Amino acid sequence: EGALLYQEGVSSWLHKEDIVHIICHELAHQWFGNLVTMKWWNEIWLNEGFASYMSYMAVDDAEPSFQIKDTMVMSDLHFALEEDALTSSHPLSTPLEEVQTTSQILGMFDAISYSKGAMVLRMLADVVEQDVFDNSIKAYLKAFRGKNVEQSDLWNFIQSIRQDKGVFSISTLMEKWTTQMGFPVITINTTSGEIYQKHFLYNNSAESDLSWLIPIKYMTAISSASRVWLEVRGPVRKEEFISKKNEWILANINCTGYYRVYLREQVKGLYNFFKNYTDTSTVPEDHSLQHNQILAIDVACSNGLPECIEMAQSKFAAWMKSNDTNNIHTNLRAVIYCQAVAAGDKKEWEFAWEKFQSSTDTSEKDQLRKALACTRKTWLLNRYLEYTLDPDKIRLMDVATTVYSIAQNAAGQALAWNFIRANWDYVSQGDPAALIMSVASRFSTKFELEELMRFATKAEEHIADIVMMKAVEQTQ
Ligand SMILES: [Zn+2]
Repeated sequence: EGALLYQEGVSSWLHKEDIVHIICHELAHQWFGNLVTMKWWNEIWLNEGFASYMSYMAVDDAEPSFQIKDTMVMSDLHFALEEDALTSSHPLSTPLEEVQTTSQILGMFDAISYSKGAMVLRMLADVVEQDVFDNSIKAYLKAFRGKNVEQSDLWNFIQSIRQDKGVFSISTLMEKWTTQMGFPVITINTTSGEIYQKHFLYNNSAESDLSWLIPIKYMTAISSASRVWLEVRGPVRKEEFISKKNEWILANINCTGYYRVYLREQVKGLYNFFKNYTDTSTVPEDHSLQHNQILAIDVACSNGLPECIEMAQSKFAAWMKSNDTNNIHTNLRAVIYCQAVAAGDKKEWEFAWEKFQSSTDTSEKDQLRKALACTRKTWLLNRYLEYTLDPDKIRLMDVATTVYSIAQNAAGQALAWNFIRANWDYVSQGDPAALIMSVASRFSTKFELEELMRFATKAEEHIADIVMMKAVEQTQ
């Protein structure tokens, strides 16, 4: 219920955005899924990718101040790329024969179908131009209403009504992005203009000869935005990417392309940019800046920037002192609670626990429950894990996410792993797949891999194969 309840003055402003998002996503299914339905589950992305993509359009229309399209890159693009960098990933359109059993079908409801689906549509809209895309989708919904479709119906339809037939047909353009798993990382040498693509995989010993037909929108200090195509693996030389007078070149403008982009961390500068707001517990008016402020605090404190940690501690201490008056801005509560508990000891933890138990607000409870997992004290983490076995302390439905939060903490990961194995019968009643993925996400040693594989046999009946394969591969 926390996903749909909002109370002015109590909930984080940003929580409103999540709620609008969910409502828009589910409404979008009236068209994508209900009016026009995919032929079979192997192309569930035609439902989920579209609903995810369209929800951004709808939220943007209902609440332009959210500037939701800016957060799309953070929430969906990077999320999908992470998942898609595993060799156990799958294509958006997976071969029919591989999607037959219930667990295979459920396995399709993942970051690939939702987020990669949305991002690949976004890339297509950028290539054909947004208004052409919008109009063809409207016509497509009319033409196929009440019918079942395959993705090729969509591609052929857009191509047939598209005035400018383009350099490539829609099906040529979309083929590799939807029938191959993964994505490329593109390397550009701005001295020679040489450019090549390579299938990006976490497991860099894995061989792959996949390549994609890549639209690259770019601009430079001396030229406005235009597009080039990378049709081969390369390296090939492209005049456009030579920086002749040392001017900057920006490729993949707005990250509309579904491929890897690296961002440089500038911790202190970022933190100081928001310092005046943060110190006075206020937030910028601009919506996407509000997101960045939280990110800045999170990154700065997690990287041990002293002024950030002091800020979190003193704001939390002021709340502890007054007990009932919490002057921390609702937007900043989650991150400050976590950082204050992380920097603190028993006193901070128990105050947060007491507030968690006494609070009647779901979003406040949720952020406190997460913050309690931020402590670096092993004994507190162990005690917290024990609490999850007592439904009067932590509801069964919250066990998986609580253990997940503990496992995300470097100090808690091994504890959480031992804990779920020792108490599997109880904790697996919650969300066993989420539990496994959360504890395994930081695994890296051979020993951990062996433990995981041994456990996989035991947990078989509770967990879809695909989840176990992902966990095993991430570890490998
Ligand atoms: Zn959906």
